[in-house]
Amino acid sequence: MSLRAIHLAGEVIPAGKILCVGRNYAAHAKEMGTVVPAEPILFFKPATALAFPHGDDLFVPRAFGELHHEVELVCLLGAGGKNLSTEDASRAVAGIAVGVDLTLRAIQARAKETRSPWAVAKGFDSSAPVGDFIRCDGADIGARAMSLHVNGSKRQEGNTTDMIFTVAAVVSFATRYFTLERGDLLFTGTPPGVGPLEDGDEVVAAVAGVPELSFTVKR
Ligand code: MN
Repeated sequence: MSLRAIHLAGEVIPAGKILCVGRNYAAHAKEMGTVVPAEPILFFKPATALAFPHGDDLFVPRAFGELHHEVELVCLLGAGGKNLSTEDASRAVAGIAVGVDLTLRAIQARAKETRSPWAVAKGFDSSAPVGDFIRCDGADIGARAMSLHVNGSKRQEGNTTDMIFTVAAVVSFATRYFTLERGDLLFTGTPPGVGPLEDGDEVVAAVAGVPELSFTVKR
């Protein structure tokens, strides 16, 4: 089975592109020393960034510099389209899971300084580990607590109700520019508390109501 196949309630859906929202929680924008954006900040990870570690090791070479965790709710699109209204966008979501937007923060910081793209900092192999998906009919994902623990201590805590742009708003906005398709994923942004990961760190990421995601960092 391909690593890029997503299992959803007995269906196998090939994973497409991975759309991500930056600074979608005000407290995280603040900790990064930036302001709350007026419209969604979007970037991509390639489908090859996807990983399903299921409690196993996740390898990111140490040579790449500082690696940060960002726990996020991840939506799986069951349908796509172009120029979707917010209402149509809200019907495009078919499943949800918890994921970690792994970020090579030193490389990203340099990219910000030189006004260069984030492709390397955000799109490297295994930069998008996700847990198992459950069905979610529609983008009304409700109020879900989320957290990330490293070696048993809490690093991140938040709630999906604190998103600046809703899932439907992000999907609708994105389809002005990109055709979204069944199998595409949306990383919806991270609450505050992002920080570095070292070799051997055990990461547990959780969003209420979906299977937990855990992995051991290998660097
Ligand atoms: Mn993120």
